[in-house]
Order: sequence, then structure tokens, then C-alpha cells
Amino acid sequence: MSDYHLQSRLIHGPMVSPHWDYQEHIVPPISASTAYRLKSAARGAEGFREFANPEFNRHQQHPIYIYDRLDEPSRSMLEDNLADAEGGERCVAFATGMAAISAALGVLLKTGDTVVSHKTVYGCTYSLFHNWYPRLGIDVVFADLRDVDGLRRILAENPRVMAVYGESPCNPNLELLDLAAVCAAVDEVNQGRAPRRRVFTVIDNTFATPVCQRPLEHGVDLVVHSLTKNIGGFGTDMGGAVIGPALLEPDLLLYRKDFGGVLAPKAAWPPLVYGLPTLALRARQQQESAQAVAEFLEGHPKVARVVYPGLPSHPQHELARRQMRDPDGAFAPGTLVYFVMEGDPARARERGARLMDLLASEALTVTLAVSLGQVRTLVEHPGSMTHATVPPEEQLAAGIDPGGIRLSLGLERTEDILRDLESALDGV
Ligand SMILES: *Cc1c(COP(=O)(O)O)cnc(C)c1O
Repeated sequence: MSDYHLQSRLIHGPMVSPHWDYQEHIVPPISASTAYRLKSAARGAEGFREFANPEFNRHQQHPIYIYDRLDEPSRSMLEDNLADAEGGERCVAFATGMAAISAALGVLLKTGDTVVSHKTVYGCTYSLFHNWYPRLGIDVVFADLRDVDGLRRILAENPRVMAVYGESPCNPNLELLDLAAVCAAVDEVNQGRAPRRRVFTVIDNTFATPVCQRPLEHGVDLVVHSLTKNIGGFGTDMGGAVIGPALLEPDLLLYRKDFGGVLAPKAAWPPLVYGLPTLALRARQQQESAQAVAEFLEGHPKVARVVYPGLPSHPQHELARRQMRDPDGAFAPGTLVYFVMEGDPARARERGARLMDLLASEALTVTLAVSLGQVRTLVEHPGSMTHATVPPEEQLAAGIDPGGIRLSLGLERTEDILRDLESALDGV
């Protein structure tokens, strides 16, 4: 299998595993059985003994299926393909990206521990850290992880740090983290720690996807995904995944069983059948449009600045070139563009809101909506939407540019996207 390109492997996957066997199907079936027939009480007991048991390998022996929330074959097929895509040992899939993020950190942290997070993260991840971790007695230190020496100091001063968390590129402003450098700093403090008491690094790879960047290759321990976005790709289903070492699989399975955020087999099927097989192709087209749109916006008088890892003006362009690579080694700067409208904070915000309204009423190819990574180009303006109640000056202080706009490129023809953007910009 590994002789084939990832693009081909994402379509064919392994069709046989001791874990499941669908050799005769070209399209894998959706299994739909919440419970499984057991041949005897002893076999039921054996199934429970094997589940989430580090001594039993569900990938080498046929597991005894008991109940959907524990383990089942359609979801397992998706998990095996995702693990292969990220180059990880194991994958455990969850109902949403947030279920995956809370599980990845849930198996690493307990009361009294600390997680260090990059200062800018996805809104609900921030809410998890801000609203819920204090109740659990878990400390969260927000830091700029682009400053790796700063991270070294935090790690040296705080022996209770058990996890370092971030996104790259991060939402919404497309800052990058130097994953290898972050991991090197973490490795220094891990010298001499037991394998399960080390500091683990967790990276949300939703924006890049494995076809633009594989964090595990840079030394990251765990990758988390919202399958709802680029990997699902068509905007039909929610999902999440954690990919990482076999060491953590039993805890992740146990966590998923007990907290209950399991991915339904029916929701595992679309990313398995439509999402992953088209991921490489979609990303290539979306990146081509992202590069063209970023270059167009960079020259536009009503746009103050454009952030796209593929532009030489990106402050971390060199890092992007090193880190963001497709599976064949080509530069893969991603499918999202961030840009800021020209003007003082109040004026920039007003222009952003006006641009949203014009796109919503006039444009065919650009859709005003949250979410990202779909076949349709989606646009949103945090300054007048998610953060509308915060005054522009305060938005700036909180790191939200009042005129900042996030664009997620879809599969429309590049010229059409450019034309719709151009005419909406004319009107603001
Ligand atoms: C959407 C998103 C999430 C959350 O995923 P859900 O599937 O909506 O729970 C997490 N991280 C990033 C970067 C996202 O874009």
C-alpha cells in the first residue's frame, strides 16, 4: 500500500483488515446496528475484557463487536484511512471536532495539571479552556507559541504542564506555529519522564488537512480534526478525529465510550466515501484559487493587508514553505485566505459588514456562512458577526481585527470567485 501515492490510497484504502472485511464491496457499506449478536455469555464477557485493553490489538485480531458506542466496522474503516493519511499509528473518531479535542486533552489532563495553549484558537476550543477547565481544576496558560523560548520558560517553571496545544495555520488569522521547534522545546523537558507522564503536543490540523501538512512528521504527538470541515468536504455531516500513538488508543476508546461522543457510522460513511477520496483533488483546486484571490486582494486599494501562507508577504512564509507540503513534497499553503479591510477600526468594520451584505445579496460563488472547507466558497467577518457586540477598539485589543475577513475557497471557477469579490469590493 505505501508504494502508492496518498491520493490513490485515500480512494482505495485497505479493503480487508482483521478488524473488518469488505472485499466484495467497491463502495464500503454503512453498517447500521447499534448492538451485535453474541454467540455465548462467555463471548460477551470476552468482548468486554478485550475492549480498550492495551493487551488486545483490535487491528490484528477480529474484535468482538458488542455495541456501537464501543466499536463498529464502518467507523473503523474511516479511522484506519485517517491514521494512514496523517501517518499515525491509530485514529479514534468522534461525533464532532469539539468532541475530538475535548477527548484528546481529556485523556492527557487531570485536576491540578496545566495545558499551555497558543493564544489564538478556534472559538469553542477557547470556550472549553475558558469556561470549563477552571471547573475541572485544570489550569490553562495562553501564550504566543511562535515564541519558542517563551514556551521553554513556561515549561521550565511549571512542572504540571502535561499538554501543549495549538493550531497551524490558526483560526482565523492564519498565523503559523513552527511545529518542529515547539516539539523540540517539549522534548527537552520530556527527557527522563515516563512515556505516559510526558508532556504531549496536540495540534488541530483542521485548516491544513493531511494533504497540506502532516504534523506527526514534525514530531507532534496527537493530531485532532474537525471532519466537519475540509475532510468531510461537502458540508453534510459533523465529525471529529484524534490521530496519534497506539499508547493512547485504549484511553481514547474508553473516554469515548464513557463520555459518549462517538461518531455515528452513518456520519462516518460520507467522509470515507466522498470526503477522503476527493480531498487531494479538492485541495489542489482550492489552493489554486486561494493563491489567485490572495494576490488579487493584495493589490486592492480597499484591502489593508492579506494573510495567506502562499504569499511571500506572509510574515512566516519561509516556515510555511518548510512545513506545509503535500504528500509528494510540493508547497501546499492551504485553502483559506484572511484579509483586513482598509481604514480605521470603526471604518474597517463597517466596510467588512457592507462587503458581507453585498456578497450575500449579489454573489453567486461566495456564500456568507460560518464553517469552512466545503465545495462552496464561504466567507465570514468575525468583527460584525461572532464578535459584533464588542466595540472595535476592544476587538483590536483582544486580537480580533475589526475589518478582518476569513475566506474559505470552494471549487467554483477561480475567475468567477474573483469577479464576485471584485464587484462587491467596488461597492464598499
Ligand atoms: C470547526 C472547527 C473545530 C470544531 O469542529 P466541530 O466539528 O464544529 O466540532 C475545531 N477546530 C477548528 C480549527 C475548526 O475550524
